[in-house]
Amino acid sequence: MKGSVLVVNSGSSSIKYQLVDPESGEALASGLIERIGEPDGVVTHRHGGVDREHRGPIADHGVGLQLAFAMFAEAGIELASAGIAAVGHRVVHGGEVFYRPTEITAEVLAEIARLSSLAPLHNPANVTGIESAMAALPDVPHVAVFDTAFFHTLPESARTYAIDSRIAREFGVRRYGFHGTSHEYVSGRVADVLGRDLASLHQIVLHLGNGASASAIAGGKAMDTSMGLTPLEGLVMGTRSGDIDPGIVMHLRRSAGLEVDDIDDLLNRRSGLKGLSGVNDFRELRALIEAGDEAASLAYRVYVHRLRKYIGAYMVTLGRLDAITFTAGVGENAAEVRADALAGLEGFGIEVDAERNAARGREARVISTDASTVAVLVVPTNEELAIARAAREFER
Ligand code: ADP
Repeated sequence: MKGSVLVVNSGSSSIKYQLVDPESGEALASGLIERIGEPDGVVTHRHGGVDREHRGPIADHGVGLQLAFAMFAEAGIELASAGIAAVGHRVVHGGEVFYRPTEITAEVLAEIARLSSLAPLHNPANVTGIESAMAALPDVPHVAVFDTAFFHTLPESARTYAIDSRIAREFGVRRYGFHGTSHEYVSGRVADVLGRDLASLHQIVLHLGNGASASAIAGGKAMDTSMGLTPLEGLVMGTRSGDIDPGIVMHLRRSAGLEVDDIDDLLNRRSGLKGLSGVNDFRELRALIEAGDEAASLAYRVYVHRLRKYIGAYMVTLGRLDAITFTAGVGENAAEVRADALAGLEGFGIEVDAERNAARGREARVISTDASTVAVLVVPTNEELAIARAAREFER
């Protein structure tokens, strides 16, 4: 256990955690604490191929972590004395302040809490998770790794919204970007897999999970990304609309009498694939399409249309393209999305090999033909490993 890093990803009512060996990337243990604050809480913990489960009320994040620690102890690991190097926390919004992994002090924690106005669903949960973990493991460095950090380098033209600049400045309205840890990790892996220098590569990374985002990366630096002030902008997602005409918000406010919170709920939780088809899980969507469901088929076509629009935009943004990479749950597993997103682009030097694309595997791999001038890849993301490696730098 010595030298390993505990990675904590706190949501509003859940905490995902993983004990990671930052050298090998091996997950030594992992778990999920769910339904915090509800009577039917559950902790599922996996260690050494054994799954353990605890069911019962979990009052708050602190109690949840204590239960998880007890499950580590049952498996023979006393976390507080196991010699772990650091705790790495995923923090969603770093605003304009944080653009590199940062050791968490009282001031840093206060600043993360202050940034809650930009990420009201996420940052408060991150703060609660950090406080609980710091109380449980007071003697190791706790490090915040920000989802926005990789996009710190966005050129001004890409990060600026064309609205009244005084209002934008006063309220921090600009494009920040999210999933940065994944885009950075995956674009680095692309260079490894291709045996090329990261500094020489122009690439597009498509992170397609429940949330989804695209990025244009040149020489390891983000040039553009599809998520904006919040993770609502851009691609069609499981439950989020992605890009819409902002006039829709005013229209719904005026014509349907919806309150801001209703519209927030509509666009974040009842839109995207779910809004169009009733399901947000891609596997369920596929089953509906196979059963001839028209709404599911339309949802899929809207999803792919938006994806292609971003690919086209980023090809022009980058001017020259070396690689397009698919990652996260849908990107890694849904071969039909990869094929449809890049269909008919042979004229742009992009040619997916049907057999390579259909082959399943957990390894990073190239799925383009040998003749394709742009390499197309599938690279499993590993945000936990990236966070663990960043946090380990702070080992005392
Ligand atoms: P999150 O954004 O929650 O981290 P993930 O990256 O785990 O999400 O992606 C979740 C999405 O991946 C879901 O829509 C799920 O249906 C999809 N997915 C997972 N496995 C498969 C698969 N074998 N085929 C198609 N889609 C899959």
